[in-house]
Amino acid sequence: MLEFPRLPQDFANHGLIPTHVVNHRLTHSAAMRILLAEDDRIIADGLMRALRKSGYAVDHVTDGSEADTALLSQQFDLLILDLGLPKLSGIEVLKRLRGRKSPLAVLILTAQDGLEDRVRGLDAGADDYLTKPFALPELEARVRALTRRGTGNPTNIEFGPLSYDQVGRVARLNGQIVDLSAREMALLEILLLRSGRLVSKEQLVDHLCGWGEEVSTNAIEVYIHRLRKKLELGGVRINTARGLGYCLDRQDDAR
Ligand code: CA
Repeated sequence: MLEFPRLPQDFANHGLIPTHVVNHRLTHSAAMRILLAEDDRIIADGLMRALRKSGYAVDHVTDGSEADTALLSQQFDLLILDLGLPKLSGIEVLKRLRGRKSPLAVLILTAQDGLEDRVRGLDAGADDYLTKPFALPELEARVRALTRRGTGNPTNIEFGPLSYDQVGRVARLNGQIVDLSAREMALLEILLLRSGRLVSKEQLVDHLCGWGEEVSTNAIEVYIHRLRKKLELGGVRINTARGLGYCLDRQDDAR
């Protein structure tokens, strides 16, 4: 049997096309590749069927240490991670992944009553979560949202007239660079990463800690106030939900 190169990388390995072309193609046209880490056979089978039908390439592992190995050795566009995994917990897999500074999008699956798990998961760097049992269309909608974010420039986040470069740490509003302090920048980053959802003061404080900036929950209000003033001019609003947190929003009347 003749062996034909099947993946773009194989073509490159065979010297047929230069690597930069492969990388370009991989980014823009190859099927999105998802790693599913789930030990429940029935849930995993259902998910794999649905995702493959939607055109995703899905790799499946059934324990945390297999997941960790796969993440170390292969490239994925999304990780769907059950938190209750044998051998190595989902949280530990996530912590290791983020410890390696991987920007991979992660959707965690948690038990219905697992509020604490969800909070720990989000704090450990998950992008989104679903509680079991969930409806497949809802999962697919989350997957679409997370993989879409990963397609373009994964380090650039856009929100209406606002764009933010996570690597260069530069924010632009209607194309103009916004002059922000490190603390304001860190706050903007987490609000953007979780845009459309509420971010609690505690999560803001945690995120600032990750940037090496120590602030109290009381001080958060001050920084949010300053950031809000700077964004308002360009039509981006920070809404306050009293006692719950903050949420980025677009100012309709400024469009
Ligand atoms: Ca499980």
